[in-house]
Amino acid sequence: MLALALTAELNGVTDLRPNDTEDSPFEYTFKVQCTSCRETHPNFVTLNRFEMHDLSGSRGDANFVWKCKNCKREHSATIQAAPASYPQSDPPKKQNILEFDCRGLEFTEFKSEGEFLATGAESKTKFTGIDLADGEWFDYDEKEGAEVSITNVKWEIRRA
Ligand SMILES: [Zn+2]
Repeated sequence: MLALALTAELNGVTDLRPNDTEDSPFEYTFKVQCTSCRETHPNFVTLNRFEMHDLSGSRGDANFVWKCKNCKREHSATIQAAPASYPQSDPPKKQNILEFDCRGLEFTEFKSEGEFLATGAESKTKFTGIDLADGEWFDYDEKEGAEVSITNVKWEIRRA
């Protein structure tokens, strides 16, 4: 099992999470590598946890299916559960957000594209449309009369 882990400094907000529902699935974007021949897919690939693709030869299905162009083997990955929320803590703690069952492939890099959500730590203000592509986000919590931010966003793929 592989996991996507997050470390981030949350200031005034907590429960950072991808906006990932059946009506609005989050597209997780990764670099992917074949564990048989070590070929890396030239492009970033996306998968979401609601879309299933058939494996060849009636071997079931998976969220992501990839036939390696180099060794011609078919590999797959499936997201195990809904993403975990990342809580505010000081100092920030590394936490797994998503876990995958990977067969014959590894995700090697995560690209943070898509909408994230967070909640005001005290005010419970709902923040939507959070973009972490630049590794940081700044906003203003009207209820608290204070700036809120997410900075030093670090994504890591590790063994779960
Ligand atoms: Zn291969």
